[in-house]
Amino acid sequence: MVPDTPSETTDSTDSHTGEEHTAVDTARRQLEHAVAHLDVNPNIVERLKHPTAVHEVTVPIRRDDGSLEVFTGYRAHHDSIRGPYKGGLRYHPGVTREECVGLGMWMTWKCAVMDLPFGGAKGGIVVDPKGLSDRELEQLTRRFTHEIRHVIGPNKDIPAPDMGTDAQVMSWIMDAYSIQEAETLPGVVTGKPPVIGGSFGREEAPGHSVAIITREACEYYGKSIEDATVAVQGFGSVGANAARKLDDWGATVVAVSDVNGAAYYPDGLDPHEIPSHDEEPEAVTRYDDDPISNEELLTLDVDVLVPAAIGDVITEDNADEIQADIVVEGANGPTTFAADSILAERGVQVIPDIVANAGGVTVSYFEWLQDINRRAWSLEEVQSELEAEMKTAWDEVRTEFEDRDVTWRDAAYIVALSRLTEAHTYRGLWP
Ligand code: GLU
Repeated sequence: MVPDTPSETTDSTDSHTGEEHTAVDTARRQLEHAVAHLDVNPNIVERLKHPTAVHEVTVPIRRDDGSLEVFTGYRAHHDSIRGPYKGGLRYHPGVTREECVGLGMWMTWKCAVMDLPFGGAKGGIVVDPKGLSDRELEQLTRRFTHEIRHVIGPNKDIPAPDMGTDAQVMSWIMDAYSIQEAETLPGVVTGKPPVIGGSFGREEAPGHSVAIITREACEYYGKSIEDATVAVQGFGSVGANAARKLDDWGATVVAVSDVNGAAYYPDGLDPHEIPSHDEEPEAVTRYDDDPISNEELLTLDVDVLVPAAIGDVITEDNADEIQADIVVEGANGPTTFAADSILAERGVQVIPDIVANAGGVTVSYFEWLQDINRRAWSLEEVQSELEAEMKTAWDEVRTEFEDRDVTWRDAAYIVALSRLTEAHTYRGLWP
């Protein structure tokens, strides 16, 4: 399976304080923190703290040994004031209701900060996809699609790949949904293969947007990308595509990692030579005779640290040790709320996930447009539109960052919340 934008897995606890930080808890605290800098209607903020609905379904499948197993699936709808719900589907044993709600909230901000006409959603199934055969995975996906078919659709809610799902899973969803609707509806999901309405460049998009934002952030702080050193945690789709693009642009990528550890070459390594997780799972440490740990990678003295593996990796336990000047969040939610404050106090600039990895949903939007218009874009068209959208979002966030003297995360939230609160004000509350 090809994970898309990897992000946090389970609810976790900081060892020092015993502080709980589920994704929804972190998302709500970030919202409150940003709102303190804005003059917004508190009623709208209150509304945004809650999902509009969380759909929970059971998904029975027949295992290859003939037994029946029942899985649990979710689709959390957070907000749709600016357009259909949008966000990934995750197949992972750590999927919970709270995680889907928190990740769905982040999708709302992500779409708003990019000014895409979508709201936010997230879903998933509590399952380890590696433990299923291809037939079982297909059956699980088709049955899950059937169970949520009333709440998804090209104009309602458009799922996409996330951890543990890929273009094949999206193809099965499109097929199952289309068969039930008795017409071919490619716009029901994004992240499909191009031959059935997918977009060129969608797979690489989250990593490429991480690279674009890294380049912009380095330039902002007076460092050209050719002079920058970068460490990338996670070598799945996001990490590998970011590392390779940054290497193409002349950055020195000194370390990349997978779950087993990190390859570290202080003078730089070639990320094109190391197979990504999708190309050859867990190959990174085979590239280095003397690998370092993931924990060590996070604290390397580099210009830019890109956590692109899972969530909650920068916590109050290691935030004091982070030596990078800039952290560019490739994963969703890699920095806990407590760690964020420590990094801010220490002057480490954190460029948030809702901007940095937003290339994924941005090219999903391009894919949806291509599906509606029944006209494919070339890879060059996709890449230049992505570059333009990322630069526009970066400029808007940078303006708030400078004008209000806030963190980059607050600045991104302010851009998103300004659009969302204005939309909520115009549309009002029904009835
Ligand atoms: N799962 C991706 C994310 O977290 C993409 C979502 C989408 O394309 O709808 O941004």
